[in-house]
Amino acid sequence: SIPLGFFGGIGGASKNGILIKGGNYLEGLNDVDTVVFDKTGTLTKGVFKVVEIREKGSINKSELLEYAAYAESYSNHPIAKSILKKYDKEIIKEYIKNYNEISGCGIKATIRGKEILVGNDKLMEREKIRYEKINAFGTVVYIAVDKQYAGYIVISDEIKKDSERAIKGLKSLGINNIVMFTGDNKNVANKIAEKLGIDKVYSELLPQDKVEKIESLEREKKTKGKLVFVGDGINDAPVLARADIGVAMGALGSDAAIEASDVVIMTDEPSKLINAIKIARRTKKIVW
Ligand code: ADP
Ligand code: MG
Repeated sequence: SIPLGFFGGIGGASKNGILIKGGNYLEGLNDVDTVVFDKTGTLTKGVFKVVEIREKGSINKSELLEYAAYAESYSNHPIAKSILKKYDKEIIKEYIKNYNEISGCGIKATIRGKEILVGNDKLMEREKIRYEKINAFGTVVYIAVDKQYAGYIVISDEIKKDSERAIKGLKSLGINNIVMFTGDNKNVANKIAEKLGIDKVYSELLPQDKVEKIESLEREKKTKGKLVFVGDGINDAPVLARADIGVAMGALGSDAAIEASDVVIMTDEPSKLINAIKIARRTKKIVW
């Protein structure tokens, strides 16, 4: 049976825009020793801007952007949204065939009879494209047309102001094991982690790698507390489900993520986790 005080705690949390799906999770929040954050959309705004377009070979800049925008037009990924915003023209859906979103990699689709690939180095490698690896401060999206490398687009994201508050707050609560996961490249990942004071970073992870990483972190942990994973729900429902406590952020996150999570933060502020932990600690004092 659930002690009555837990209902008060859950109610208090909901007034703060934090939905806790049961007394056991509220109790678990007392005992957190590890917090793993997903990067994109969680610690960063997930609002990417196109900062560079570089065409290669016979294609021109506007064609390159057009292919990328068409390929991305069915995707909900923040990268897709930024490319579509930059393109800013009508998309004629009939031109798009064989659309395939490869989670953690990018898009493969046929646009007006040409096979278009838009994504990261993993996508280029699995499709055996000869491309040039670009080192940019930002996420590099490579494009290939009929198996020929056609250029790249650089996209950059910003750290949320609230993220720093979240990391500092966790440390002040005595939670020092803070980790960041991302599918993005090492360059971007390390720079963001450094700015936020996160010392453990795992980059270039596919969604399934994130599940394995959570499992190995839980196995190797020397302390007995709970592991929290905080994600925005894009591609990370399996990790949300696997963590001791899965926290989905942003009320606009996918239904699958809300379903898979144990706690939902209605806003896009990672520091709400601090409120949740504080409420859990207060509730514990009342219950026992
Ligand atoms: P994160 O782990 O940072 O939340 P994701 O797992 O959503 O990132 O994506 C990891 C990487 O996969 C992105 O940084 C990008 O390189 C590539 N990617 C994923 N979806 C797309 C897409 N729709 N278009 C282009 N690239 C994509
Ligand atoms: Mg993500």
